[in-house]
Amino acid sequence: MPVICWFRRDLRLTDHRALYAAAEASAGAVIPVFILDDAILHDGYVGAALTAVTLAMLEALNHDLQQLGSRLIVRHGQPLAELQRLVSETHASGVYWNRDYLPYAIKRDTAVKQWLREQGLQAHSFHDSVLVEPEGLKTKTEQKPYLVYGSYVKRWSELAYHQAEQLVPAPSKLVAPPSDLASLPIPALADLGFDLQQTIPQVGEALAQQRLAQFFDRRRELSVLKYAEAREVPAEAGTSQLSVDLRMGTISIRQCLKQAVDLLTEPLTAEQRQGVDTWIKELAWRDYYTQLIYHNPHMLNGSLDPRYDQIEWRNDPTEFAAWQQGQTGYPIVDAGQRQLNQMAWMHNRVRMISASFLIKDLLIDWRWGERYFMRKLCDADITANNGGWQWAAGSSGPSAQPYFRIFNPIAQSKKHDPHGQYIRRFVPELANVPDRYIHEPWTMPPALQAHLGCVIGRDYPAPIVDHGLARERALNAYRTALQTSE
Ligand SMILES: Cc1cc2nc3c(=O)[nH]c(=O)nc-3n(C[C@H](O)[C@H](O)[C@H](O)COP(=O)(O)OP(=O)(O)OC[C@H]3O[C@@H](n4cnc5c(N)ncnc54)[C@H](O)[C@@H]3O)c2cc1C
Repeated sequence: MPVICWFRRDLRLTDHRALYAAAEASAGAVIPVFILDDAILHDGYVGAALTAVTLAMLEALNHDLQQLGSRLIVRHGQPLAELQRLVSETHASGVYWNRDYLPYAIKRDTAVKQWLREQGLQAHSFHDSVLVEPEGLKTKTEQKPYLVYGSYVKRWSELAYHQAEQLVPAPSKLVAPPSDLASLPIPALADLGFDLQQTIPQVGEALAQQRLAQFFDRRRELSVLKYAEAREVPAEAGTSQLSVDLRMGTISIRQCLKQAVDLLTEPLTAEQRQGVDTWIKELAWRDYYTQLIYHNPHMLNGSLDPRYDQIEWRNDPTEFAAWQQGQTGYPIVDAGQRQLNQMAWMHNRVRMISASFLIKDLLIDWRWGERYFMRKLCDADITANNGGWQWAAGSSGPSAQPYFRIFNPIAQSKKHDPHGQYIRRFVPELANVPDRYIHEPWTMPPALQAHLGCVIGRDYPAPIVDHGLARERALNAYRTALQTSE
């Protein structure tokens, strides 16, 4: 009898646990299905960039399935209803899928599982999208979920490394769905009501494999071996750029870790080893935030530590618009926002600087920034994004940046983009500004501004806020909120 493999955020064939198990279990057809779900597409957090990469990934997945003699079945509707219809059309004996840990997904999957069981059909779900599942790691003494990343990551490694040894191959052949089984065409972006104004990366399993291979190519100047330092330089491509692939699963997280663990068995210098170790710790942040939100779903609407919900935000719409558009007058922030608006991606260091600026310098509710990032990033991921924003706000407890440690955007810019290469790439108005003024162009003498054709207030904005004053204002707002909640 046929079985259904329900693809969700795992748009690949290699090391796909549900697909592998489905292919092993069924002597008949495996029906690969993807269901476009309006509750996700139109929840206000999904943007054109993520939707566009997802559609391109579906095209690539369909192509890869065709190479195996199969094809992707696409449906659009409420997932339970669509699966019920598919089961009745195909007489499938069960459904296989990889687990997802967000509240909406858990509720959806529980309903599907219950219905299947009621019908006497099989429901098989698999641990796949993270290295360590949220229920898989609790404190030793109290069996409670971890709140502190430092303690979490110490024990995470033991379990995660074990997963890196458990990869499964792509099926070499699949029995195709019956030829008369209906599938919708993969829609165009506009059909789903989105309009893409950004450039997005090319995607698909083959390209994800290529990105991983490149990042681990020792002959390249910027490989994982240089990651510990290179990841802090936004002007360089010193990070893997795999976030879009990990978001929608065109690469397996186990394969990523395995590549790193295998490299650690080779003779490496201390610096190279640190590069690989640091990258593995970033993969751990991904699992850490997944389990944090799983155990504390209230984080999706407010602060992990509710005392921070008492902050009196200024929420000035004009300042918010200036931040969105990269017109704050702080070059590093503006460069980051413009990178986001153009490329649907932003370097991690600049995500931190820009988030801190919005929250602390402008005193705008971090949830406004969180939503803007969600709608603009091609790697938009509720857990990593919410975690990143609450880290910057200091509202997620001891693993966050404490509220009183406020990033100075000028010092950050000098440290991480000393010659302004990144700034000049995304803020062309400042292209000719000498290095010594590039981080604070408003300090340029007026004659020089006129000479360079970069008059502050005319060609490039004057800073919308004074960092020193804004810092004091933020400290007061935070202190007041904490006192109020005592
Ligand atoms: C305010 C803010 C918002 C963010 N929003 C997102 C988001 O929506 N989606 C997203 O994938 N990442 C997000 N991040 C984390 C991080 O910025 C990106 O994962 C990273 O920049 C992606 O580039 P890369 O693939 O080259 O990463 P690499 O440096 O090569 O890291 C490898 C992988 O580890 C994971 N990772 C790295 N850093 C983090 C982190 N801090 N938290 C969780 N996972 C991490 C990602 O899957 C990444 O692809 C956010 C960070 C901040 C500060």
